[in-house]
Amino acid sequence: MSDSPTTSDVLVIGGGPAGYTCALYAARAGFSVQVLEKLAPGGQMATTDVIDNYPGFPQGVTGFDLAEKMKQSAERFGVQTKLTEVVGVSLAGDVKEVRTKKETLRARAVVLATGASPRELGLPEENSLRGRGVSYCATCDGMFYRGQTVCVVGGGNTAAADALYLARLCEKVYLIHRRNQLRASKVYRDALEGVENVEILWNSTVSAILHEDTVTGVAVLNKHTGETTSLPCSGVFVAVGTVPESGLFKDQVETDEAGYVLADETTQTSLPGVYAIGDLRKKPLRQVVTAAADGAVAARCIEEYLAL
Ligand code: NAP
Repeated sequence: MSDSPTTSDVLVIGGGPAGYTCALYAARAGFSVQVLEKLAPGGQMATTDVIDNYPGFPQGVTGFDLAEKMKQSAERFGVQTKLTEVVGVSLAGDVKEVRTKKETLRARAVVLATGASPRELGLPEENSLRGRGVSYCATCDGMFYRGQTVCVVGGGNTAAADALYLARLCEKVYLIHRRNQLRASKVYRDALEGVENVEILWNSTVSAILHEDTVTGVAVLNKHTGETTSLPCSGVFVAVGTVPESGLFKDQVETDEAGYVLADETTQTSLPGVYAIGDLRKKPLRQVVTAAADGAVAARCIEEYLAL
């Protein structure tokens, strides 16, 4: 049993950059704050190899290190972290309840900071081949494919960053994208051009994952020619965007059709005392720096709310 109190001023669900920044600011404002984290601090950021666009790190910083630093910054001001999975919430009313498998926690303000998780391709057996050739995290699993041929599916920043990361470990990387132009930022597009062992397959989708006990390749459909070819590879890294982790809340706060929680620049949701920050919130730019900014704004709004 944890000896942490079951009531606090502020409960933050999710220990990514948004959650820990909010916790840091709220604790510095004098509130008791608990961060509830399912796995490990950092969320998606912790699975990022090098972050070059968070200010203050001229040599870049690994997502894992930045996550640990953010956690330590918050804990320096008294924030408590509980490693636990939230299984239910009751967010209406003045005192909110957050349930884990072991206990019910209460707070006057709750911050939803659960982020987003990788979207699946939706192919048969994609799930059963997880860990046997199908991965959603290049920095976590890339080392298992050292010297081998892999493919990355997607055309955004994650797919581009994954392809660049894997190119340093693998013999050959195919980047399979459904259009003829990457969505990824120019800095990634330029970097990819200079990498010899990355080949981009344009206008192409993966129509099947080929396997025996583990992945042996993918079937690639060229949308222009209508031709399907088999591409031998031992790993498939899926990087086709994210889906919000809003399942626990979406019946209680307003979301858009995709499940992103609706909250304006104040991060206030449709329920008083409930705030949505980071990748979970409907917003134009999902970056570590905008997640952190959301956290700071939420803490300021919570301060006003709790003073009422
Ligand atoms: P994203 O920007 O939404 O890109 C998803 C990519 O997957 C798009 O190219 C999309 O194709 C493709 N796609 C979507 N569904 C597909 C499907 N069913 N089959 C095949 N392809 C599919 O997602 P992301 O790259 O994961 O990035 C998520 C957020 O994190 C973004 O805001 C991104 O900027 C941010 N991020 C930033 C950095 C950085 O700045 N260093 C690094 C990683 C992520 P279309 O292009 O045709 O839509």
